[in-house]
Amino acid sequence: MAAVLYIVVPCYNEQEVLPITAPMFLQKIKDLAAAGKISDESRVLFVNDGSRDRTWEIISALAEEDEHYIGISQSRNRGHQNAVLAGLMEAKDRCDITISIDCDGQDDINAMDKMVDEYLGGCEVVYGVRESRDTDTFFKRATAQGFYKFLSAMGAEVVYNHADYRLISSRVLQEFANFKEVNLFLRGMIPLVGFKSTCVGYSRAERIAGESHYPLKKMLALAVDGITSLSVKPLHMITGFGVLVAFASFIGVIWAIVTALMGKTVAGWASTTCIVCFVSGVQLICLGIIGEYIGKIYMETKQRPRYIISERTWEKKK
Ligand code: UDP
Ligand code: MG
Repeated sequence: MAAVLYIVVPCYNEQEVLPITAPMFLQKIKDLAAAGKISDESRVLFVNDGSRDRTWEIISALAEEDEHYIGISQSRNRGHQNAVLAGLMEAKDRCDITISIDCDGQDDINAMDKMVDEYLGGCEVVYGVRESRDTDTFFKRATAQGFYKFLSAMGAEVVYNHADYRLISSRVLQEFANFKEVNLFLRGMIPLVGFKSTCVGYSRAERIAGESHYPLKKMLALAVDGITSLSVKPLHMITGFGVLVAFASFIGVIWAIVTALMGKTVAGWASTTCIVCFVSGVQLICLGIIGEYIGKIYMETKQRPRYIISERTWEKKK
């Protein structure tokens, strides 16, 4: 029997773009089913991430219109990563494969054909990788590429130029369900599950309508989450740096004693101030980095639910 595919689409305030892209996802399912690659039981699963606009109404209307559209709604906005996770976990017991994709039409829907082919060829995870960023603004391109370089320098291994457009089999998702952390960085966590994987290239287009929800501030937050959830390299770097500073201080102390013994002590106000400023600055940065990890431990110990689904289109309210 052909595989059942669920296309998982997180949506946050997407009333402008959803009516345009939803039929494109549906058409893709119909085409793939007609080609005999997937089952007609396949679905487009929208995850409403606590939108404040008409997104959920649109999703509910789509679900009425065609059985291939289904939707779940999170009880409030929890962010893109949690929305994707909610969709994947909801889908994992109902299908054979999932493909997560943004709802703004930026990711080339036609790359799904190649992804499904790779799955049929034996891969359990297929990463969508951007081949060109010609349509991104210079700023977005530079910051996004800096993001991947910074992540790998800090010891967080991610697939270069891969965002969250990927195919995952339900077999991998069953294993992934055992990763209980609340600090989510899916693109770094999925490779940890293992299984046979490959990459499929696509070119990234501009948003069809609406606005980006990933300004620089959120991207920096995602980078910090990625690093702290995947790697303890910053802590090692602090230790290494601490050893260097301690060594320099040791030499400084010897120098101070020797000059004092030689009777050459002069009022060294400037040098003292510089050293105090430098060392206290370094200490504060180090404390901050350690604090980031403690904050993450704090969040993990609470074990709060990572998503709460308040509504499903197939469970009608009484
Ligand atoms: N998104 C979400 N919750 C949020 C922010 C974004 O579910 O809090 C969804 C959004 O609807 C879109 C995807 O995540 O489908 C990517 O967001 P966006 O296109 O704004 O980011 P960009 O492509 O500019 O990085
Ligand atoms: Mg986008």
